[in-house]
Amino acid sequence: MNKLLILVTEDDAPVRNLITTTLRANDYRYITADTGEGAVAEAASRNPDIILLDLGLPDIDGEEVIGKIRSWSNVPIIVISARSEDSDKINALDAGADDYLTKPFSVEELLARLRVTQRRLALMAESQPRQSVYENGPLRIDFVSGCAFLNEEELHLTPIEYRLLSLLAANTGKVLTHRYILQKVWGSSWENDVGSLRVYMATLRRKLEKSPDAPRFIQTHIGIGYRMMKLE
Ligand code: CA
Repeated sequence: MNKLLILVTEDDAPVRNLITTTLRANDYRYITADTGEGAVAEAASRNPDIILLDLGLPDIDGEEVIGKIRSWSNVPIIVISARSEDSDKINALDAGADDYLTKPFSVEELLARLRVTQRRLALMAESQPRQSVYENGPLRIDFVSGCAFLNEEELHLTPIEYRLLSLLAANTGKVLTHRYILQKVWGSSWENDVGSLRVYMATLRRKLEKSPDAPRFIQTHIGIGYRMMKLE
């Protein structure tokens, strides 16, 4: 049922081969590019369903590739980066990437990221036009009345907690960086106040999660940000 078309952008041939072999074995279709400009050209001409984008490319950097593609397309972009490129990874997410893989990654990790992205695509397709009610397992948010419910019981959220939850829900499956969340919920003058964000996230989780130490809904990406997961 997969048969999604994946654009694999990677200049390192062994890594590219690992990815394409994995895709072929799991019933994905793929095309490849080994430069940033090549990725932009393939994205424009072939209209892939998902783009895998290595950040360390020989010509233009990943952030620029994302900027160009984002000027006409919302196609999900999963960036691939070496651990030493952590700040590049965060810039890529801020520029509009949806998710990331850190090298070295396992085949299972790659497939898991693709599944999360596929669920996000399905969710996006469902929510056209914009839904007034969001549902994810036992969580329901009524955007019209501004109320959130867990197992049909209303959650008593502060305005900030509600905005945090709504922002993460509207981007289910997508990793949102600390800076992005702070800008959207508090405004740009707060974008470095990760400490406050942690405090609010902890109180939101106490209300939302059965066991806040093993969250089901909101996943922490240490040093990067948070992601609302789609529950099965
Ligand atoms: Ca590279």
